[in-house]
Amino acid sequence: MKHLGDMMKKIIKMIAAPFYHVIPNYYLYGKVYRSLYDELKRYENMPLSQKEILMVSKVKDILIYSYEQTAYYKELFDRIQFDPYVFDDLKQMAKIPITRRETVMERIDDLIAQKYQLRSKRMSKVTTAGTTGKQMTFYQEKRNTGLRSEAYFDYLFKKAGYNKNKKMAVIRNTVIANGRLWQRDRFKNKLYFNPFNLTDENIGKIIACLNKEQILFFHTYPSHAMTLSDYIRRTGNSLTYQPKAIFASSENLYQGQREFIEKYMGCKVYIHYGHSENGCVAGWCLNSDHYHVEEGFGYCEVISEGEPCKAGELGEIVTTGFNNKVMPLIRYGTEDYARISSSVSECSETHRCWDDVNGRWPREMLVTVNGSKIPMSAINVHSDIFDHVRAYQFVQEEKGICFLNIVKGEGYSEGDEEKLYHDIRPKLGDSSQMEFTIQYVEDVIRIPNGKYKYIIQKIKE
Ligand SMILES: [Zn+2]
Repeated sequence: MKHLGDMMKKIIKMIAAPFYHVIPNYYLYGKVYRSLYDELKRYENMPLSQKEILMVSKVKDILIYSYEQTAYYKELFDRIQFDPYVFDDLKQMAKIPITRRETVMERIDDLIAQKYQLRSKRMSKVTTAGTTGKQMTFYQEKRNTGLRSEAYFDYLFKKAGYNKNKKMAVIRNTVIANGRLWQRDRFKNKLYFNPFNLTDENIGKIIACLNKEQILFFHTYPSHAMTLSDYIRRTGNSLTYQPKAIFASSENLYQGQREFIEKYMGCKVYIHYGHSENGCVAGWCLNSDHYHVEEGFGYCEVISEGEPCKAGELGEIVTTGFNNKVMPLIRYGTEDYARISSSVSECSETHRCWDDVNGRWPREMLVTVNGSKIPMSAINVHSDIFDHVRAYQFVQEEKGICFLNIVKGEGYSEGDEEKLYHDIRPKLGDSSQMEFTIQYVEDVIRIPNGKYKYIIQKIKE
Protein backbone atom coordinates (compact mmCIF):
# COMPACT_ATOMS: atom_id res chain seq x y z
CA MET A 1 0.00 0.00 0.00
CA LYS A 2 2.80 2.37 0.98
CA HIS A 3 4.54 1.47 -2.25
CA LEU A 4 1.42 2.41 -4.23
CA GLY A 5 1.16 5.72 -2.37
CA ASP A 6 4.78 6.53 -3.18
CA MET A 7 4.20 5.69 -6.80
CA MET A 8 1.13 7.95 -6.96
CA LYS A 9 3.15 10.77 -5.43
CA LYS A 10 5.88 10.26 -8.05
CA ILE A 11 3.35 10.29 -10.90
CA ILE A 12 1.62 13.44 -9.59
CA LYS A 13 5.03 15.09 -9.23
CA MET A 14 5.97 14.17 -12.80
CA ILE A 15 2.72 15.55 -14.20
CA ALA A 16 2.91 18.70 -12.09
CA ALA A 17 6.61 19.40 -12.71
CA PRO A 18 6.29 21.50 -15.89
CA PHE A 19 3.67 23.71 -14.22
CA TYR A 20 5.38 23.97 -10.88
CA HIS A 21 8.06 26.41 -11.90
CA VAL A 22 5.56 28.67 -13.65
CA ILE A 23 3.89 29.54 -10.34
CA PRO A 24 6.06 31.93 -8.30
CA ASN A 25 7.05 30.62 -4.87
CA TYR A 26 5.57 33.80 -3.47
CA TYR A 27 2.12 32.32 -4.13
CA LEU A 28 3.03 28.72 -3.37
CA TYR A 29 4.71 28.99 0.02
CA GLY A 30 2.40 30.91 2.33
CA LYS A 31 2.67 33.50 5.05
CA VAL A 32 6.09 32.83 6.61
CA TYR A 33 7.77 32.87 3.20
CA ARG A 34 5.99 36.06 2.12
CA SER A 35 6.66 37.94 5.32
CA LEU A 36 10.45 37.44 5.12
CA TYR A 37 10.52 38.05 1.39
CA ASP A 38 8.59 41.32 1.79
CA GLU A 39 10.83 42.34 4.65
CA LEU A 40 14.01 41.78 2.64
CA LYS A 41 12.52 43.83 -0.20
CA ARG A 42 11.46 46.55 2.20
CA TYR A 43 14.99 46.85 3.60
CA GLU A 44 16.62 46.87 0.18
CA ASN A 45 16.75 50.61 -0.43
CA MET A 46 15.90 51.87 3.04
CA PRO A 47 18.40 54.40 4.45
CA LEU A 48 20.59 52.91 7.20
CA SER A 49 19.36 55.45 9.75
CA GLN A 50 15.80 54.23 9.25
CA LYS A 51 16.87 50.57 9.39
CA GLU A 52 18.54 51.24 12.71
CA ILE A 53 15.28 52.48 14.24
CA LEU A 54 13.55 49.30 13.09
CA MET A 55 16.45 47.22 14.44
CA VAL A 56 16.01 48.67 17.92
CA SER A 57 12.42 47.52 18.07
CA LYS A 58 13.13 44.09 16.54
CA VAL A 59 16.07 43.49 18.88
CA LYS A 60 13.97 44.59 21.84
CA ASP A 61 11.25 42.08 20.89
CA ILE A 62 13.69 39.18 20.78
CA LEU A 63 15.38 40.29 24.03
CA ILE A 64 12.04 40.32 25.83
CA TYR A 65 11.06 37.02 24.24
CA SER A 66 14.32 35.37 25.34
CA TYR A 67 13.97 36.78 28.84
CA GLU A 68 10.42 35.54 29.25
CA GLN A 69 10.81 32.23 27.47
CA THR A 70 14.24 30.84 28.36
CA ALA A 71 15.72 29.99 31.73
CA TYR A 72 19.21 30.82 30.47
CA TYR A 73 18.60 34.44 29.41
CA LYS A 74 16.29 35.07 32.40
CA GLU A 75 19.14 34.09 34.71
CA LEU A 76 21.78 35.97 32.69
CA PHE A 77 19.86 39.25 32.35
CA ASP A 78 18.94 39.22 36.04
CA ARG A 79 22.54 38.56 37.00
CA ILE A 80 23.96 41.41 34.93
CA GLN A 81 20.99 43.63 35.75
CA PHE A 82 20.00 44.07 32.14
CA ASP A 83 16.40 45.16 31.67
CA PRO A 84 15.10 44.24 28.18
CA TYR A 85 11.86 46.21 28.72
CA VAL A 86 13.69 49.55 28.68
CA PHE A 87 16.02 48.71 25.79
CA ASP A 88 16.16 51.69 23.40
CA ASP A 89 19.64 51.87 21.90
CA LEU A 90 21.65 49.23 20.02
CA LYS A 91 24.78 50.32 21.94
CA GLN A 92 23.20 48.77 25.05
CA MET A 93 23.79 45.34 23.50
CA ALA A 94 27.43 45.61 24.56
CA LYS A 95 26.33 44.97 28.16
CA ILE A 96 25.30 41.42 27.29
CA PRO A 97 28.17 38.91 27.18
CA ILE A 98 28.64 36.97 23.96
CA THR A 99 26.93 33.56 23.99
CA ARG A 100 29.60 31.01 23.09
CA ARG A 101 29.15 27.60 21.52
CA GLU A 102 30.37 25.94 24.73
CA THR A 103 27.53 27.61 26.62
CA VAL A 104 25.01 26.47 24.03
CA MET A 105 26.26 22.92 24.43
CA GLU A 106 26.24 23.02 28.24
CA ARG A 107 22.95 24.83 28.70
CA ILE A 108 20.98 23.57 25.73
CA ASP A 109 17.85 22.68 27.75
CA ASP A 110 17.76 26.13 29.35
CA LEU A 111 18.02 27.79 25.96
CA ILE A 112 14.91 26.18 24.49
CA ALA A 113 11.88 28.47 24.76
CA GLN A 114 9.28 27.26 27.27
CA LYS A 115 6.54 27.15 24.73
CA TYR A 116 8.47 24.66 22.63
CA GLN A 117 9.72 22.50 25.50
CA LEU A 118 6.87 20.04 25.13
CA ARG A 119 6.37 20.39 21.42
CA SER A 120 9.30 18.47 20.07
CA LYS A 121 7.44 17.75 16.83
CA ARG A 122 7.68 21.39 15.87
CA MET A 123 11.44 21.51 16.40
CA SER A 124 14.23 20.14 14.30
CA LYS A 125 17.67 19.33 15.56
CA VAL A 126 20.66 20.72 13.72
CA THR A 127 24.35 20.19 14.29
CA THR A 128 27.14 22.38 13.11
CA ALA A 129 30.90 22.10 13.11
CA GLY A 130 33.00 24.69 14.87
CA THR A 131 36.68 25.33 15.21
CA THR A 132 37.14 22.93 18.12
CA GLY A 133 36.26 19.59 16.54
CA LYS A 134 33.12 19.13 18.57
CA GLN A 135 29.74 19.41 16.91
CA MET A 136 27.31 21.85 18.45
CA THR A 137 23.66 20.93 18.53
CA PHE A 138 20.83 23.42 18.46
CA TYR A 139 17.13 23.47 17.65
CA GLN A 140 15.05 25.45 15.23
CA GLU A 141 11.50 25.52 13.87
CA LYS A 142 10.94 22.52 11.67
CA ARG A 143 8.86 23.92 8.83
CA ASN A 144 9.38 27.66 8.95
CA THR A 145 13.18 27.61 8.85
CA GLY A 146 13.10 25.96 5.44
CA LEU A 147 10.49 28.39 4.14
CA ARG A 148 12.55 31.37 5.28
CA SER A 149 15.61 29.99 3.64
CA GLU A 150 13.64 29.55 0.36
CA ALA A 151 12.50 33.16 0.64
CA TYR A 152 16.02 34.38 1.22
CA PHE A 153 17.54 32.48 -1.71
CA ASP A 154 14.73 33.51 -4.05
CA TYR A 155 15.25 37.12 -3.06
CA LEU A 156 19.02 36.90 -3.41
CA PHE A 157 19.15 34.94 -6.68
CA LYS A 158 16.48 37.16 -8.23
CA LYS A 159 18.71 40.18 -7.72
CA ALA A 160 21.17 38.56 -10.14
CA GLY A 161 18.45 37.74 -12.67
CA TYR A 162 17.57 34.16 -11.71
CA ASN A 163 14.10 32.75 -11.18
CA LYS A 164 12.95 29.14 -11.15
CA ASN A 165 11.77 29.36 -14.77
CA LYS A 166 15.41 29.35 -15.70
CA LYS A 167 17.55 26.25 -15.52
CA MET A 168 20.22 26.03 -12.83
CA ALA A 169 23.29 23.78 -12.77
CA VAL A 170 24.10 22.60 -9.25
CA ILE A 171 27.56 21.28 -8.44
CA ARG A 172 27.66 20.92 -4.68
CA ASN A 173 27.41 17.66 -2.76
CA THR A 174 24.62 15.75 -4.48
CA VAL A 175 25.13 12.02 -4.42
CA ILE A 176 24.00 10.56 -7.73
CA ALA A 177 23.34 6.83 -7.97
CA ASN A 178 25.14 4.41 -10.28
CA GLY A 179 28.06 6.70 -10.96
CA ARG A 180 26.03 8.82 -13.38
CA LEU A 181 27.43 12.27 -14.05
CA TRP A 182 24.21 14.23 -13.72
CA GLN A 183 20.62 13.97 -12.72
CA ARG A 184 17.71 16.21 -13.64
CA ASP A 185 15.11 17.49 -11.21
CA ARG A 186 12.25 18.64 -13.42
CA PHE A 187 10.30 19.82 -10.43
CA LYS A 188 12.98 22.29 -9.41
CA ASN A 189 14.22 22.86 -12.97
CA LYS A 190 17.73 21.99 -11.88
CA LEU A 191 20.46 19.79 -13.25
CA TYR A 192 22.58 18.27 -10.47
CA PHE A 193 26.13 17.26 -11.38
CA ASN A 194 28.14 14.57 -9.64
CA PRO A 195 30.98 16.31 -7.78
CA PHE A 196 32.77 13.13 -6.67
CA ASN A 197 34.33 12.13 -9.93
CA LEU A 198 35.56 15.30 -11.56
CA THR A 199 38.24 13.80 -13.79
CA ASP A 200 39.25 15.62 -16.96
CA GLU A 201 37.28 13.10 -18.98
CA ASN A 202 34.13 13.64 -16.91
CA ILE A 203 34.47 17.41 -16.82
CA GLY A 204 34.70 17.27 -20.61
CA LYS A 205 31.35 15.47 -20.67
CA ILE A 206 29.88 17.98 -18.21
CA ILE A 207 31.05 20.91 -20.35
CA ALA A 208 29.48 19.27 -23.41
CA CYS A 209 26.24 18.82 -21.50
CA LEU A 210 26.29 22.47 -20.34
CA ASN A 211 26.95 23.63 -23.90
CA LYS A 212 23.99 21.64 -25.13
CA GLU A 213 21.66 22.80 -22.37
CA GLN A 214 23.00 26.38 -22.31
CA ILE A 215 22.51 26.68 -18.56
CA LEU A 216 23.01 30.28 -17.48
CA PHE A 217 23.12 29.91 -13.69
CA PHE A 218 25.37 27.85 -11.44
CA HIS A 219 25.11 27.05 -7.74
CA THR A 220 28.34 25.63 -6.42
CA TYR A 221 31.21 25.72 -3.92
CA PRO A 222 34.16 27.94 -4.79
CA SER A 223 36.42 24.85 -4.86
CA HIS A 224 34.30 23.10 -7.52
CA ALA A 225 34.15 26.29 -9.59
CA MET A 226 37.96 26.39 -9.34
CA THR A 227 38.24 22.77 -10.56
CA LEU A 228 36.09 23.56 -13.61
CA SER A 229 37.95 26.79 -14.35
CA ASP A 230 41.31 25.09 -14.04
CA TYR A 231 40.18 22.38 -16.47
CA ILE A 232 39.14 25.08 -18.97
CA ARG A 233 42.46 26.87 -18.55
CA ARG A 234 44.49 23.71 -19.16
CA THR A 235 42.48 22.21 -22.01
CA GLY A 236 40.93 25.21 -23.72
CA ASN A 237 37.69 23.21 -23.83
CA SER A 238 35.46 26.00 -22.60
CA LEU A 239 31.80 26.89 -22.52
CA THR A 240 30.60 27.97 -25.94
CA TYR A 241 27.98 30.32 -24.52
CA GLN A 242 28.04 33.08 -21.95
CA PRO A 243 26.56 32.10 -18.57
CA LYS A 244 25.02 34.81 -16.39
CA ALA A 245 26.10 34.03 -12.85
CA ILE A 246 27.87 31.63 -10.52
CA PHE A 247 26.36 31.57 -7.05
CA ALA A 248 28.85 30.36 -4.49
CA SER A 249 28.83 29.85 -0.74
CA SER A 250 29.91 27.63 2.19
CA GLU A 251 33.62 28.14 1.65
CA ASN A 252 36.00 31.04 1.71
CA LEU A 253 36.83 32.62 -1.60
CA TYR A 254 40.55 33.22 -1.47
CA GLN A 255 42.38 36.07 -3.08
CA GLY A 256 42.60 35.73 -6.82
CA GLN A 257 40.02 32.94 -7.03
CA ARG A 258 37.15 35.23 -8.02
CA GLU A 259 39.13 36.68 -10.94
CA PHE A 260 40.29 33.21 -11.99
CA ILE A 261 36.78 31.73 -12.06
CA GLU A 262 35.29 34.78 -13.79
CA LYS A 263 37.99 34.67 -16.46
CA TYR A 264 37.51 31.01 -17.37
CA MET A 265 33.78 30.58 -16.75
CA GLY A 266 33.00 33.87 -18.46
CA CYS A 267 30.60 35.34 -15.92
CA LYS A 268 30.42 37.02 -12.56
CA VAL A 269 30.84 35.13 -9.28
CA TYR A 270 28.37 36.06 -6.55
CA ILE A 271 29.24 34.84 -3.09
CA HIS A 272 27.06 35.11 -0.02
CA TYR A 273 27.60 34.40 3.65
CA GLY A 274 25.28 32.42 5.85
CA HIS A 275 25.56 29.88 8.68
CA SER A 276 23.43 27.00 9.97
CA GLU A 277 22.40 28.94 13.05
CA ASN A 278 20.68 31.47 10.78
CA GLY A 279 21.49 34.44 12.98
CA CYS A 280 22.37 36.63 10.05
CA VAL A 281 23.12 36.50 6.36
CA ALA A 282 25.10 38.72 4.05
CA GLY A 283 24.20 38.75 0.39
CA TRP A 284 26.04 40.19 -2.54
CA CYS A 285 26.22 43.60 -4.08
CA LEU A 286 25.53 43.83 -7.80
CA ASN A 287 27.93 46.71 -8.30
CA SER A 288 30.90 45.66 -6.24
CA ASP A 289 32.61 42.60 -4.76
CA HIS A 290 31.58 43.36 -1.20
CA TYR A 291 28.82 41.77 0.88
CA HIS A 292 25.62 43.46 2.06
CA VAL A 293 24.34 42.54 5.52
CA GLU A 294 20.65 41.58 5.17
CA GLU A 295 18.92 42.98 8.21
CA GLY A 296 15.74 40.90 7.80
CA PHE A 297 17.44 37.90 9.43
CA GLY A 298 18.90 39.41 12.51
CA TYR A 299 20.98 42.08 14.13
CA CYS A 300 24.61 41.58 13.44
CA GLU A 301 27.73 43.02 15.05
CA VAL A 302 31.39 42.66 14.10
CA ILE A 303 33.46 42.57 17.26
CA SER A 304 37.17 42.58 17.99
CA GLU A 305 38.50 42.42 21.57
CA GLY A 306 35.08 43.31 22.91
CA GLU A 307 34.73 46.44 20.79
CA PRO A 308 32.74 47.05 17.59
CA CYS A 309 35.03 47.10 14.55
CA LYS A 310 35.59 50.23 12.50
CA ALA A 311 36.00 50.52 8.74
CA GLY A 312 38.75 48.24 7.48
CA GLU A 313 38.93 46.14 10.67
CA LEU A 314 38.39 42.41 10.93
CA GLY A 315 36.28 41.00 13.75
CA GLU A 316 34.05 38.13 14.79
CA ILE A 317 30.49 38.09 13.47
CA VAL A 318 28.19 38.19 16.50
CA THR A 319 24.50 37.70 15.75
CA THR A 320 21.14 38.16 17.39
CA GLY A 321 18.76 36.30 15.08
CA PHE A 322 15.11 37.32 14.85
CA ASN A 323 13.67 34.14 13.43
CA ASN A 324 14.55 31.24 15.71
CA LYS A 325 11.78 31.25 18.30
CA VAL A 326 12.63 27.71 19.42
CA MET A 327 16.09 28.58 20.64
CA PRO A 328 16.78 32.31 20.50
CA LEU A 329 20.48 33.16 20.63
CA ILE A 330 21.42 36.63 21.82
CA ARG A 331 24.83 37.94 20.78
CA TYR A 332 25.90 34.55 19.55
CA GLY A 333 29.60 34.25 18.67
CA THR A 334 29.69 32.59 15.25
CA GLU A 335 33.48 32.03 15.08
CA ASP A 336 33.25 33.50 11.57
CA TYR A 337 35.07 36.74 10.76
CA ALA A 338 34.17 39.73 8.60
CA ARG A 339 36.06 42.83 7.56
CA ILE A 340 34.04 46.04 7.58
CA SER A 341 34.28 47.82 4.23
CA SER A 342 36.88 50.52 4.23
CA SER A 343 35.65 52.32 1.14
CA VAL A 344 32.65 54.58 1.04
CA SER A 345 30.50 53.59 -1.91
CA GLU A 346 27.08 54.37 -3.25
CA CYS A 347 25.78 51.50 -1.08
CA SER A 348 27.03 53.02 2.16
CA GLU A 349 23.83 55.03 2.61
CA THR A 350 21.62 51.96 2.55
CA HIS A 351 23.78 49.00 3.53
CA ARG A 352 26.31 47.87 6.03
CA CYS A 353 29.00 46.40 3.80
CA TRP A 354 31.73 43.85 4.42
CA ASP A 355 34.77 43.56 2.17
CA ASP A 356 35.62 40.05 3.17
CA VAL A 357 34.37 37.07 5.13
CA ASN A 358 36.63 34.50 6.73
CA GLY A 359 34.37 31.63 7.63
CA ARG A 360 34.96 28.84 10.09
CA TRP A 361 34.46 26.60 7.05
CA PRO A 362 37.36 24.23 7.09
CA ARG A 363 39.57 24.61 4.05
CA GLU A 364 40.67 21.02 3.94
CA MET A 365 39.80 18.58 1.19
CA LEU A 366 39.82 14.82 0.66
CA VAL A 367 41.10 13.52 -2.67
CA THR A 368 39.46 10.66 -4.58
CA VAL A 369 41.38 8.00 -6.48
CA ASN A 370 41.40 10.03 -9.68
CA GLY A 371 42.17 13.34 -8.07
CA SER A 372 38.70 14.90 -7.52
CA LYS A 373 38.58 17.02 -4.42
CA ILE A 374 35.85 16.66 -1.84
CA PRO A 375 35.70 19.81 0.30
CA MET A 376 34.98 19.45 4.00
CA SER A 377 31.86 21.61 3.53
CA ALA A 378 30.42 18.82 1.38
CA ILE A 379 31.07 16.19 4.05
CA ASN A 380 29.75 18.27 6.92
CA VAL A 381 26.70 16.47 8.27
CA HIS A 382 23.74 18.06 9.98
CA SER A 383 22.42 15.26 12.12
CA ASP A 384 22.92 13.56 15.44
CA ILE A 385 25.57 11.06 14.32
CA PHE A 386 28.29 12.74 16.37
CA ASP A 387 26.25 12.86 19.58
CA HIS A 388 28.45 10.28 21.31
CA VAL A 389 31.69 11.34 19.70
CA ARG A 390 34.16 13.49 21.60
CA ALA A 391 36.21 14.47 18.57
CA TYR A 392 36.65 13.32 15.00
CA GLN A 393 39.08 13.86 12.22
CA PHE A 394 39.64 12.51 8.72
CA VAL A 395 43.13 11.33 7.89
CA GLN A 396 44.32 10.70 4.37
CA GLU A 397 47.71 9.46 3.18
CA GLU A 398 46.83 8.06 -0.23
CA LYS A 399 44.42 9.16 -2.94
CA GLY A 400 41.13 7.30 -2.75
CA ILE A 401 41.63 6.00 0.82
CA CYS A 402 40.60 7.84 3.94
CA PHE A 403 40.15 7.07 7.60
CA LEU A 404 37.86 8.70 10.09
CA ASN A 405 39.54 8.84 13.49
CA ILE A 406 37.06 8.85 16.32
CA VAL A 407 37.59 9.66 19.97
CA LYS A 408 34.70 7.88 21.65
CA GLY A 409 32.52 9.91 23.97
CA GLU A 410 30.17 8.79 26.72
CA GLY A 411 27.58 6.27 25.58
CA TYR A 412 29.29 5.44 22.28
CA SER A 413 28.17 2.06 20.94
CA GLU A 414 28.15 -0.08 17.80
CA GLY A 415 24.95 1.66 16.77
CA ASP A 416 26.87 4.92 16.55
CA GLU A 417 29.42 3.36 14.24
CA GLU A 418 26.63 2.11 12.00
CA LYS A 419 25.10 5.58 11.87
CA LEU A 420 28.45 7.13 11.00
CA TYR A 421 28.99 4.73 8.11
CA HIS A 422 25.42 5.19 6.97
CA ASP A 423 25.56 9.00 6.86
CA ILE A 424 29.15 9.66 5.82
CA ARG A 425 29.76 6.90 3.30
CA PRO A 426 27.44 8.42 0.62
CA LYS A 427 29.05 11.84 1.02
CA LEU A 428 32.34 10.42 -0.21
CA GLY A 429 30.85 9.21 -3.48
CA ASP A 430 31.28 5.71 -4.82
CA SER A 431 33.50 3.30 -2.84
CA SER A 432 35.56 2.68 -5.98
CA GLN A 433 36.47 6.38 -5.74
CA MET A 434 37.12 6.49 -2.02
CA GLU A 435 37.61 3.72 0.51
CA PHE A 436 36.41 4.78 3.91
CA THR A 437 37.18 3.18 7.28
CA ILE A 438 36.42 4.28 10.83
CA GLN A 439 39.16 3.78 13.39
CA TYR A 440 39.35 4.60 17.09
CA VAL A 441 42.01 6.77 18.66
CA GLU A 442 42.88 8.28 22.05
CA ASP A 443 43.03 11.78 20.64
CA VAL A 444 42.94 13.59 17.32
CA ILE A 445 46.04 15.20 15.85
CA ARG A 446 46.48 18.77 17.01
CA ILE A 447 48.53 21.17 14.97
CA PRO A 448 50.95 23.63 16.56
CA ASN A 449 48.85 26.83 16.36
CA GLY A 450 46.11 25.04 18.29
CA LYS A 451 43.58 25.43 15.48
CA TYR A 452 41.57 22.34 14.88
CA LYS A 453 41.80 20.53 11.56
CA TYR A 454 38.98 18.33 10.29
CA ILE A 455 41.19 16.68 7.73
CA ILE A 456 44.84 15.76 8.19
CA GLN A 457 45.91 15.64 4.57
CA LYS A 458 49.21 13.92 3.97
CA ILE A 459 49.04 13.75 0.17
CA LYS A 460 51.44 16.24 -1.32
CA GLU A 461 49.91 18.28 -4.15
ZN1 LIG B 1 27.21 47.38 -2.36
